[in-house]
Amino acid sequence: MTKFAEIAVALPIDKLFQYRIPEALCGSLRIGSRVFVPFGPRTIVGYAVGLSDAPEVKEVRDLKGIIDKEPILTDEMLALTKWISENYFCTWGEAIEAVIPAGIKKGKEAIGSKIKVPEIKPEDLSRSEPHVLTKEQADALKEIVEYIDKGRHRTFLLHGITASGKTEVYLQAIDIVLARGRQAIMLVPEIALTPQTIERFVSRFGHRVAVIHSHLTPAKRFLEWKKIKEGRADIVVGARSAVFSPMSRLGLIIIDEEHETSYKQDDVPRYHAREVAEERARINQCPLILGSATPSLESFYKAKNGRYTLIKLTKRIEERLLPKVKIVDMRMELETRKKIAIFSKVLLDAIDKAVRAGKQSIIFLNRRGFSTFINCKKCGLVLKCRRCDAVMVYHFDEKKLICHYCNYRQDPPDICPKCRSGYIRYFGLGTEKVESELAHAFPRIRIARMDSDTTVKKGSHDRILTKFKAGETDMLVGTQMIAKGLDFPQVTLVGVVSADSTLNLPDFRASERTFNLLTQVGGRAGRGEDGGEVIVQTYTPGHYAILSAAKHDYEKFYDEEITSRKELFFPPFVDLVKVVVRARNEEYARKTAEDLAEALRAEDREAMVAGPAPAPMARVRGYYRYNVLLKGTDRAAMCALVKKVLTVFHRPHGILIAVDVDPISM
Ligand code: ADP
Ligand code: ZN
Ligand code: ZN
Repeated sequence: MTKFAEIAVALPIDKLFQYRIPEALCGSLRIGSRVFVPFGPRTIVGYAVGLSDAPEVKEVRDLKGIIDKEPILTDEMLALTKWISENYFCTWGEAIEAVIPAGIKKGKEAIGSKIKVPEIKPEDLSRSEPHVLTKEQADALKEIVEYIDKGRHRTFLLHGITASGKTEVYLQAIDIVLARGRQAIMLVPEIALTPQTIERFVSRFGHRVAVIHSHLTPAKRFLEWKKIKEGRADIVVGARSAVFSPMSRLGLIIIDEEHETSYKQDDVPRYHAREVAEERARINQCPLILGSATPSLESFYKAKNGRYTLIKLTKRIEERLLPKVKIVDMRMELETRKKIAIFSKVLLDAIDKAVRAGKQSIIFLNRRGFSTFINCKKCGLVLKCRRCDAVMVYHFDEKKLICHYCNYRQDPPDICPKCRSGYIRYFGLGTEKVESELAHAFPRIRIARMDSDTTVKKGSHDRILTKFKAGETDMLVGTQMIAKGLDFPQVTLVGVVSADSTLNLPDFRASERTFNLLTQVGGRAGRGEDGGEVIVQTYTPGHYAILSAAKHDYEKFYDEEITSRKELFFPPFVDLVKVVVRARNEEYARKTAEDLAEALRAEDREAMVAGPAPAPMARVRGYYRYNVLLKGTDRAAMCALVKKVLTVFHRPHGILIAVDVDPISM
């Protein structure tokens, strides 16, 4: 007779807790259900992950109640969350909490309660019919279907240039999965979850689609979750967390734009959706498709080594050509025009030409604000955030200086806060300034700007895009928000104001990011019949990331980049575990990080331990940050090592320690 339950709780305590099941509840508790348990003086929600006959300690407290009659976690989800806790340095309870929607975490909402569920109506969308596939598309689909039919796991890397018809392959693969009575998950980056993408799925599959993204209210999110759980949806389209959709007949997972950094979660549990999807596909013995025009180095490396199956789509639909890319050496501009210009003559001429032809253009700069650098001419002071190591950026619309790391705001000073002189000057370049300079140079064209400043209000994102699509604006200026996914056939020109801003980031993935961004943003040009042109301004025109992006040559880029990763001992050759030590006092942070690195080195069997070193942004929100970096080939073993050391490590008061497995930034 089962009398005890093993309970996982969503706290950073790496163990399970045992509770006695009271007489009256015996027999009604099932593994995977939520329970109320006493925890110290409080009552909290826990998750039943095991049952047993014997107590492990003398004093076992009674659990207080069972929330779910039917388990909310299937065996699959229990296995998956356990795997996450072992691979991403969190507790089982923390991993479980991440896979169920916020609406039910507090134990308020029991499954099976009566909530009216409004159906997603396929609106007034006309049903879109499948295209007849091209030879490349058909071959790609055939390989994937083989695994759908065999009921076997395999990961496919679908490397297809922009507009080569990847999405059509996904749609038809899903169709086949549905026809076999199974279900599919389609992950897209948050940024791509525009009505455009959603429409494409809803118009093909109607009300069988559930959509999950971060803008849903907890209540709405819960309804979608319930719809899936009860088997009323067969396809989930969603951002990162949709990988946890509670489907019982999963037959396919797809990750579009698999290289996107938004697939990595920033908070505990810091999982990567690509890895979780692979584990889930393995548990379900179904295929996983990773799609991208610019695959992550990690995925392409696995494809080259045969761990993934590589499928290529090399041609654009209707044989449209990729846009011609022109690199403009801004050092030459500086020499010939004797001043620092924002726009080269080449770019200005190209804009002029597009305007005359009545075409649209997209101008890209990966930095928002007006002036990004404020400096006293007399004493040399650069205005920095009082809480961070970051420079203050002047925002013209708000007439404020804003820190992009902590959002601290202040009025622009009239005199230098250090030497009291009046020689404060504004330098640097953000999207606001680009917009205003272009409005100046081309007074007759209608310009819209899209960055996180202009899209704060609900719906403004869609409004800007809808107007652009309808031709009510001629030019779109923006940050990476406009780099991806947009399909506007009237755009013949894409201008990149500065390719250098991402290239100079202190991160081993800086080149990869630059290559991706240039390829993606360039892919917005020439999607219609009139072809397209991309103009890239840079002070480092010889860099391989820029050169290979200009030639649309992913493999050339990969070859260069993989060589450097190998030499420097970075992913995909090793896994990384980053331990961040933070404190308000710098000395204290550094000293603790040193002690911790020492303790890790003393234990070292599994990993190389580097550092501590100050984080590239050494101070944020008043906290100094030091990184200790572990490199090794066995991620779970590295996690176990860090867990072991941290359990006994004396953590002084006021010190915060965070562990990030497979970090996407340093
Ligand atoms: P990607 O996902 O690679 O960017 P899409 O699947 O969006 O490419 O395809 C680009 C465009 O071509 C879309 O408008 C799509 O409807 C269309 N398309 C895709 N496959 C075909 C096909 N086989 N025949 C005709 N048009 C197609
Ligand atoms: Zn000064
Ligand atoms: Zn700040």
